Amino acid sequence: MALKKITIAIDGHSSTGKSTMAKALARRIGYAYVDTGAMYRAVTLYALRNKLIKGETVDEKALKEHLKRGDIMITFRPTKEGKSVTVLNGKNVERYIRSMRVSNVVSIIAAIGFVRKAMVKQQQAMGKDKGVVMDGRDIGTVVFPDAEMKVFATASAEVRAQRRFDELRAKGDTTTTFEEVLENVTERDRIDSTRKESPLRQAEDAMVLDNSHMTIEEQNEWLYNLYLSRVRS
Ligand code: C5P
Repeated sequence: MALKKITIAIDGHSSTGKSTMAKALARRIGYAYVDTGAMYRAVTLYALRNKLIKGETVDEKALKEHLKRGDIMITFRPTKEGKSVTVLNGKNVERYIRSMRVSNVVSIIAAIGFVRKAMVKQQQAMGKDKGVVMDGRDIGTVVFPDAEMKVFATASAEVRAQRRFDELRAKGDTTTTFEEVLENVTERDRIDSTRKESPLRQAEDAMVLDNSHMTIEEQNEWLYNLYLSRVRS
C-alpha cells in the first residue's frame, strides 16, 4: 500500500538546525524541501542592494512597489550535488543571504505584513500538493495550519550561537565574534516572537524537539519515527 502524502511543518527558534533536519528528512522520504527563511533573507538582500533599508529603517512604500511590480522573484534551483540553492531574479544568492549583513536586519523585513503576505502565498502554492517539508517560523500556525506533522525546534541560545558561529568560520568569516552571533540569535528570536504579524509561537499540536544535547543522527531518527507514526495513523 502506498504511504499517504502529508505536509510537514518545522518551526522554531533561530539556528536550531531546522533546515539541516528538514533537508535530511525530505531526502530520506522523497519529499520536496522549502526553506522559507531563505525567502525572507532574499527579500532582505534585495532591499539592502536597492538601498531600501537605512540602518533599521525600511522604506516600506518603495519595497511594496517593488514586490507589487514583480521585481523580487524568489525560486529554488537544484544543484548537481543534489542540494538546493536560493535564486533571486535568476541569480544564485545562497552565499549572500547567509551573511551577517542580512541576518542583522532580516527579522525587521520579516515583520512587515505585506512581505509576509506575499511570501505565505508563494509557500502555500509550493506546498499545495503535499509531499513537502517546509521550515520556518509560522508554517504550522499560518502557512499550513492543517499540516499532519508539526515540529517546534528549540535549543539553548548558547548552543545555537555556537553552531552558527562555527558555520560562519567554516565559510571563511573570520571577523564576526561569538558574542555578535549570540546577540543576533537572541535579538532575532525576540523580534520574531513579539512581532504583530504571525509571531513565532508553538502550534498547539506541534511536537517539541529540544536538540541542545542531541546528535544529528538522533534528531534524524526522532523526526523519521514521528513521520512514520503520522503516515501510518
Ligand atoms: O530560518 P532563518 O533563520 O534563515 O530565517 C531568517 C529570518 O526570517 C528569521 O529570523 C525570521 O525573522 C524570518 N522568518 C520568518 N518566517 C518564516 C521563516 C523565517 O519570519 N517562515
